[in-house]
Formats: sequence, C-alpha cells, structure tokens
Amino acid sequence: MIYFIGAGPGDPELITVKGKRLIEEADVIVYAGSLVNPQVLAGAKPGVEIHNSAAMTLDEVISVLCRGEKEGKRVVRVHTGDPSLYGAIREQMAKLDRLGIAYEVIPGVSSFLAAAAAVKREYTLPGISQTVILTRMEGRTPVPERERIQELAAHRATMVIFLSIGQIEQLCGYLQQGGYDADTPAAVVYKASWKEQAIVRGTLADLAEKVKAAGIRKTALVMVGEFLGDVFEASRLYAPEFGHEYRTAKNDVPQD
Ligand code: SAH
Repeated sequence: MIYFIGAGPGDPELITVKGKRLIEEADVIVYAGSLVNPQVLAGAKPGVEIHNSAAMTLDEVISVLCRGEKEGKRVVRVHTGDPSLYGAIREQMAKLDRLGIAYEVIPGVSSFLAAAAAVKREYTLPGISQTVILTRMEGRTPVPERERIQELAAHRATMVIFLSIGQIEQLCGYLQQGGYDADTPAAVVYKASWKEQAIVRGTLADLAEKVKAAGIRKTALVMVGEFLGDVFEASRLYAPEFGHEYRTAKNDVPQD
C-alpha cells in the first residue's frame, strides 16, 4: 500500500493526525520539495529513505514508489496542502492503477484554507457570496478557454487564485474586465501558516502594485471578493428566531 499524504500548507502542526502517523511509520518518503515544509518530515524514522521529487520525473517517482512497495516497505508520497488541488496526483494514481499497486489518499489542509485563516475571513457570507471559485491563470499548464478569469469573474463570487502571483497585474486586469469593480477588496497571502507568512491587502485597483512593492513573487494566493470587506448579513444558523433540528426558535411554540 502506498499512501499519498496532504502535508498541509506549511505549519508542521497543520498535517492530519493520520498523515503524521504514516510519515512516522514510513520507510520510504517521496516529498514535493519545492513546497512541502521539511519540518513535516521531522518525525520520520532514523534511516528512512527520503527523495525530493522536485528533481525527479514522473517515471522516476513511480519507480521509487514501486520499488519500495515491492520490497515490502511502507511508502509515502507527500504533497503540499491537499493533493487534490494542483497536486499532479492523478497521473501517479493512473500509473499505479496500471501496475496494479494499491494506494490510499490522506487529505490535507489546503493553502486556500490556511489563507482564509490568516486573513480571518469567511469565504461564504450570506448576502455576499455562497460560492468559492478556486482557479489559476494559464502558465505552462493550459486552462480551458471557458474558464478564463474574465468568465469566472462575471459571477462576482469569492475567488481564490493559485499559481498566478507572477502574473498579478494581468490577473487584476482580467478580474475587472470580467465584472468585479476596481474597488473590490483583494488580498495576497504569501506562505500562509509558515513563519514567513505575509499578507498584502488592497483593492483590485492597487493590489498588483502593493504586491510588487512587497517583493512577493511565488508561494502566494490571490483572494478576491466582498467577503474580504466588512459588510455582510448575519447567518440564519444562529439567529434567535430561526429554529432548526437542534434548537427551537425563541418565538416558536416548542413541539411535544
Ligand atoms: N495542493 C496545494 C496547491 C499546490 S499548487 C494546496 O492544496 O494548497 C502550488 C500553489 O499553491 C502555489 O503557487 C501557491 O499559489 C499555492 N500555495 C501553496 N502553499 C501555499 C501557502 N502556504 N501559502 C500561500 N499559497 C500557497
């Protein structure tokens, strides 16, 4: 059995209990060295075989995983955040499927969740947005035409943009072309949950300039939407006059 593990956003305490245990038990670890905090591996056994996948091809990764598995070792593949987002995990699973090797995926705390925690905001606010769009700009990996930033921005939902900080100026332009007003609040979180974490707040009009001034060029998320502002309606969930399965409304006649 090979375990794909979401290492979380950076803070070594933000890995799941299960992920941590599997790393402690591992004989072979292949980790995404460009983004995974090496401290996440601190609990590994002495003598564990560690590979940094940043310098490896897909076939090299698969061959290390398979070799360990065939030797009866406990093998873990560690990805940053949650592996289901921009993790390039699918192609690895497809190869393992073809080879008939079993695997399991252990989810992790994605960086977009750590970023919301960093700015102390809720993505889904009543009367503001009930939808979160996770996307990226086209880089070396293409993005389907129908998912252009302008198309997605037309919804004026909450948006979190990965892998695009290097194109921040263009990004802010497309977001405005798509439908957000220039004064829509926007923020960048660099290295969410790491010691080096930095937050840049602004609007679509001035964010790019501020990000450049701060010297942020990688490992950052762009967040856009009125959820970053101060206007919202209280949720119905805790409203006194709103009863539900677990609580009787204050002006309801209790049933039974
Ligand atoms: N699977 C990861 C994303 C991998 S893609 C996850 O769930 O978070 C890599 C991109 O994710 C980076 O370019 C950056 O946009 C974002 N990212 C990853 N870790 C981050 C962090 N700690 N803070 C801010 N952005 C981060």
